[in-house]
Amino acid sequence: KPVIEFKQVSKKYPNGTVGLKNINLKIPQGEFLVIVGLSGAGKSTLMRTINRMHDISSGDILIDGESIVNLKGKGLRQLRRKIGMIFQNFNLVNRSSVQRNVLSGRVGYYSTWRSMLGLFSKADKQKAVEALQRVGLGEKLYTRADQLSGGQQQRVAIARAFMQDPKIVLADEPIASLDPLTTDSVMNDLKRLNEEFHITVIVNLHSVPLARKYADRIIGLRGGELIYDEPIEKVTEAD
Ligand code: ADP
Ligand code: ADP
Repeated sequence: KPVIEFKQVSKKYPNGTVGLKNINLKIPQGEFLVIVGLSGAGKSTLMRTINRMHDISSGDILIDGESIVNLKGKGLRQLRRKIGMIFQNFNLVNRSSVQRNVLSGRVGYYSTWRSMLGLFSKADKQKAVEALQRVGLGEKLYTRADQLSGGQQQRVAIARAFMQDPKIVLADEPIASLDPLTTDSVMNDLKRLNEEFHITVIVNLHSVPLARKYADRIIGLRGGELIYDEPIEKVTEAD
């Protein structure tokens, strides 16, 4: 049974722009899926329908076999807790410490007042240290987020996503603002999350060579349509 299934999904924005057109897609748990396509192809729209940052116009999206399109309230919060999100611009709280940023991945697990006061359990603080060690930032616990390089900030964002115990991680052009050297460290961290914890990872990329290096499967979008879908063994130089 796939962890994510798109059934004839279309999305039109209120101004009439086509975001997605009749997408059918099954994603098995633990897959490292890369979405490629030019700017405006619908990559980030597709990704954002999975955690309901965007609503679809028709069709259905199932997560763990259950439709998510009508979820609200508690059901929606439970869905979003399962799904870690990584953005191009990191979305860290710049003036907060690395530790505080990573622990914020855990806020869904606390009452509002406890998380506002930063009253996290010892176990969660330990988990944050381990998450940071995993991305090679164990010594940066008390550094302010805005004092880190771009690549380091993105690895903090990965550690934060990991704190959610996510089943799925969505990374929307995670390397678009990074230099080539840090690109590989970020992609390797995502790959490790995927392999060690069997987390389903979906990454939007512009670069096909990079997709080829990390993906289990590559899909291509153009004008909101799925125009390409191949497991990595079948991807050829010509693609
Ligand atoms: P990609 O991530 O591949 O660059 P997007 O999913 O961001 O593509 O965009 C797909 C299409 O939808 C583009 O034509 C884009 O301009 C349009 N689009 C994205 N967001 C909105 C929005 N909020 N309102 C209207 N059109 C949008
Ligand atoms: P990115 O490609 O990094 O996701 P964009 O510049 O495409 O960023 O979009 C930035 C914001 O503007 C997003 O919230 C997106 O939904 C919105 N947006 C993108 N294209 C359009 C559009 N044609 N009309 C209205 N909003 C749009």
